[in-house]
Order: sequence, then structure tokens, then C-alpha cells
Amino acid sequence: MIKNIKNYSLEELKDELKKIDEKPYRAEQIYEWIYKKKVESFEEMTNLSIDLRNKLNTNFNMGLFKIVKKLESSDGTKKYLFDINDNKGNLIETVLMQYHHGYTICVSSQIGCRMGCKFCASTGIKFERGLTAGEIVEQILAIENDTGVTISNIVFMGIGEPLDNYENVMSAIKILNSPKGLNIGARHISISTSGIVPMIYKLADEKLQCTLSVSLHSSNNKKRSEMMPINNSYPIEELMKACKYYIKKTNKRISFEYALAKDNNDNLQDAKDLIKLLKGMLAHVNLIPINNIEDGKYIKSTNENIMKFRDYLNDNGIVATIRRELRFRYKCCVWSVKKTKFVILKRGGNS
Ligand code: SF4
Repeated sequence: MIKNIKNYSLEELKDELKKIDEKPYRAEQIYEWIYKKKVESFEEMTNLSIDLRNKLNTNFNMGLFKIVKKLESSDGTKKYLFDINDNKGNLIETVLMQYHHGYTICVSSQIGCRMGCKFCASTGIKFERGLTAGEIVEQILAIENDTGVTISNIVFMGIGEPLDNYENVMSAIKILNSPKGLNIGARHISISTSGIVPMIYKLADEKLQCTLSVSLHSSNNKKRSEMMPINNSYPIEELMKACKYYIKKTNKRISFEYALAKDNNDNLQDAKDLIKLLKGMLAHVNLIPINNIEDGKYIKSTNENIMKFRDYLNDNGIVATIRRELRFRYKCCVWSVKKTKFVILKRGGNS
């Protein structure tokens, strides 16, 4: 079977090369071509013998994506729809954002998502599978090759629940992290979760320096369960215990995502409950101004309300900021703007 060469960490690739009777040190050369020189074919790896290049072609592929569609907004944000070339017609979305500190990419971790958050556009997408490490890494390479920019930050906030594809996400982080790979420090990688408690403990024990971003959206179990079914399995008390464990193990601040929906979770009592929940924790609250959802269940809070909510948190010792509104809404910040959203996730759909 032909394998995606981008699925392998450097050490794993050395083992793969041994299996085809090649010297392990060749793995470093191959890594250099893929992740530093960013070539897209084995033929371009000119310091490898033709014999080795032929062997690579027989045993591996480069896991390249095809850009199906690209949207670009006036603020420099680019949203890509990729054909991931898995012979099943699966497509995924990736977003490139430009900030003053550099370029950030928002990667997908699964094809579809099982979590069923009520406010999320991914909920309508049939879950197929988790992306492989190579498919996660390729999102970065494909966009760097298309734009010529160097990506400095990665957020796992695209389609899918990263902790529901734990092993592959960890393998991808290893490749992203490796000085011989893309050399993106763990501090520049952020993992978002809807709150899969056992996996938060597992992640904490990895002692990676990644930022953990938890989609909270309410401090009230009833309201949170309505928005996020995962809360029925792992209610807020259990989630908070896991978050405290993560902070203790990593000494890293957790970012709590809180999407404000009018008359749902944006009143003074909600702010008070949130303060009570997070008081004393190494935490930051990221307030998200949501867009109206098409069935009208969750409506955007007024700007005045959003600012009041933020100020109330800040005045009471909880650091809170309002997320910049990007033109393309996406997954946890989905609440998609209809005219800019890709609605095809399978070939042959509508766009
Ligand atoms: S918000 Fe995240 S976890 Fe929830 S359904 Fe959407 S992609 Fe899945």
C-alpha cells in the first residue's frame, strides 16, 4: 500500500526507510526537502539517488491537496476548500488569518464532527473520519506553497474535535514541532476542545506547551447541555476539574471560549456565574460575537452588551477580551455568514 510520507515523524520515517533497505539518515534529507525546501515531488529531491527516488515513488505519496476553492476577504483572511485526494471525494476547510504578530492557520482535524454542538455549522456535516497526521500537516504546507507566507501559529479550531482524533493530532504536532520539520513551537499551537474530559487529562500528562482552548459558552449545566450535548457526558464540574489538572501540569493559562447569544447566556447573572466558576484559575475568557444562526435560536448579542459583559468580567478579576470578528466564520466561531460559507463538503454538492 502506498503511504503518505507526511504521516511520519522523523524517527518513524527512519524506520520506514529501513523497511525498504535504505539508510535511516536519508530521512533527514527527505524531511529537509519536504519541510524546509517545500518541494512537492520526490523527483525534486535531487541529492537522493534516482534509485531511491524511484523507491519513494513506489512506496509513498506526497499527500498533496488540490485547492477546490479559495475565498479572500478585505482583511487578508483566506479560506480554502481542499480536495484531500483520498479517492473518496472528501473535502476540508482551512483558514489563513493575518495578525500583527504573523500568520495563523486554523486547521481542521476531522472530516465532519461527532460532537453535535447546536450552534456549529460542522454539525450538519456527516462525520467520516479523523484526518491523518499528514493530512493535518498538509493544510499548512499547501497554504504556505499557495501564498508564499510562513505560518507561525496554528490553531486546531477548524472542523472536527481535535481530542476526538487524539493520536493523529499528537503525531501532527510532533511533525509541526520538530526542528527538522516545520519547527513551530508548541507555544504557538493552540488546541480547541468542546470538553472531552478524559482526553484533557491525557493531554495534560503530555506536558506539551500548547495552549488549550475550551469551548465553554455557559457556566450553567442546563444551558450548556442545550448548546453542547457533550455536556451531558462531561458536565461543567468535571470539565473544570480536568482544566485545573491541565493548568497544574502545564502551568499554562486556559483560554475559555464564550460565544454570546442574546437573552441566552449574555445577562448579568451569566457573567456572575462565569466569574464564580473561573475565579482564581489561570484563565482567559475569549468572548465571541456570534452571528445569527439560521434557525434563529441563537441571536447575536448587541455590541453594547458584549462590551458590558467583558467589562464586568475584567472589573471582577477575570481577564476577558473580545475576539476580532473575522469575515469568515468558522467552526467554533462558525455561525457562518451564509454568503461566504462553503456548503459543499463532498464533491457534487452545492457551493
Ligand atoms: S463546535 Fe467544534 S466540537 Fe462542536 S460540533 Fe463544531 S466542530 Fe464539533
